[in-house]
Amino acid sequence: MRILLVEDERRLAEALRAGLSAEGYAVDVAHNGRDALWLATEHPYSAIILDIMLPGLNGYRVCRRLRDQGDSTPILMLTAKDGEDDEIEALDTGADDFLPKPFSYGVLLSRLRALIRRGGATRPGVLKLGDLELDQAGRTCRRGGTDISLTGKEFALLAYLVQRPGQVVTKAELLDNLWDFAASATANLVEVHVSALRLKLGTETIRTVRGAGYLVTTSGA
Ligand code: CA
Repeated sequence: MRILLVEDERRLAEALRAGLSAEGYAVDVAHNGRDALWLATEHPYSAIILDIMLPGLNGYRVCRRLRDQGDSTPILMLTAKDGEDDEIEALDTGADDFLPKPFSYGVLLSRLRALIRRGGATRPGVLKLGDLELDQAGRTCRRGGTDISLTGKEFALLAYLVQRPGQVVTKAELLDNLWDFAASATANLVEVHVSALRLKLGTETIRTVRGAGYLVTTSGA
């Protein structure tokens, strides 16, 4: 089981990492929201423990972006205070559970185990478009029973589009939702990834709407 732990308080992060490792989990640690988003996009995790107050991109935004790009990894959010608003917002942005700080380590462990159990049992997590199937848990793509190997970013891009069939999605929207370092990412980068996807999927799946963006439709798949 591989866990992503996102916590900027280094001592707490290290204590949790050591504890979870001792329980047999493989643990990756991110100290800010952007690293968390990058790691979660590149690697499949059984669960993500996500602090809300983070430098750069806060936990709510990380959670929202992951959900927007089709990532349904179970997320346990660490709320800074036991305020009801925090908890409501955590669940509204797509977190599966929350735990107010300070928490007992034993409670964290049991919540995490429950989340992983539930996650495995109840999430179909498969996006479909025509004969195209995207398994969000395993990050695999199949068409007509044939596996298509995609990079993490290609998968995220395709998942984003497939969840918006018949809707024109602009390059700016894709950049904003799928790239962490928006300042250095350009529309050209989106084009490069779309070209790579077309090489793997055929040119018909993702259509260009001139001057507007990209479009996938159920009939075009
Ligand atoms: Ca924090």
